[in-house]
Amino acid sequence: MSSPPKIDDVRAATAVKLKGRTKLKLGELPTNGHSLFEDKKTAKASLDDDATVIDTLQDALYAEQKHALLVVLQGIDTAGKDGTLKSVFKFTSPLGVRVHPFGRPTDLELAHDYLWRAHAAMPRKGHIGVFNRSHYEDVLVVKVRKLAPPQAIEQRYEQINQFEKHLHENGTRILKLMLHVSRKEQGVRLRERLEVPQKRWKFNPSDLEDRELWDQYEAAYATMLERCSTTWAPWHIVPADSRSRRDAIAARLVRGALEDLNPQYPDPGYRPEQFEID
Ligand code: ADP
Repeated sequence: MSSPPKIDDVRAATAVKLKGRTKLKLGELPTNGHSLFEDKKTAKASLDDDATVIDTLQDALYAEQKHALLVVLQGIDTAGKDGTLKSVFKFTSPLGVRVHPFGRPTDLELAHDYLWRAHAAMPRKGHIGVFNRSHYEDVLVVKVRKLAPPQAIEQRYEQINQFEKHLHENGTRILKLMLHVSRKEQGVRLRERLEVPQKRWKFNPSDLEDRELWDQYEAAYATMLERCSTTWAPWHIVPADSRSRRDAIAARLVRGALEDLNPQYPDPGYRPEQFEID
């Protein structure tokens, strides 16, 4: 077994790099994660360590009530959003984590601006919030399926950056993970959904329509990553073809975000020796 990569190395390897390039080419970026975790055994051990530490840090975050952490999970169908959050938070108390899925907007949501539902779902101080899909659907599926006028979508990148800046300045740390799966692996996973009886409920024929639109989604994801990777809310591209490596990489990044927040247990305002319990 080898040793796990340092958190800073995972950050550097998954950060969106735009230097000297006009266009991000997602198709050229690795989807397997082997450069970070050579073997699965190391990935699994690292995940277990990090999941344990994430629970400990979450406890202090909850006690301190000063900051919130928002983890945004995006990725095309089968990229593993559900699996990632199950693994990364497998040891975290459900008291302190809130998962919010973003499906097709309801009539009420459509009657508001597109960020309304995201703002309402933000984690409160002391909590970790996980967005399973997010406000970024409004520059992804909405763009690819032409559900809003192009000019309106064009304005959204900067609107989202400002929205996230506002949240950051008001105590929410934002970590955004784009799960990067290859078209080949998506084919394997979609077939698995049809073949395995327990997975059939996950299959939706519209997933095949989206698969036909692969190139358009890839372009929409690239634009989103290029335009919405900010210092206050960075995107990380997580190779997602190997489930164990994907989970281990995501856990390193979540642990890093919590360690940066450095939550401390508050002073209780009394001295324990003041009290006697019979
Ligand atoms: P998931 O695929 O995440 O497991 P669902 O099967 O409920 O969950 O799919 C949610 C669907 O809602 C996806 O197809 C997604 O593209 C769609 N969706 C999310 N946000 C929007 C939006 N703002 N406008 C249109 N469709 C959206």
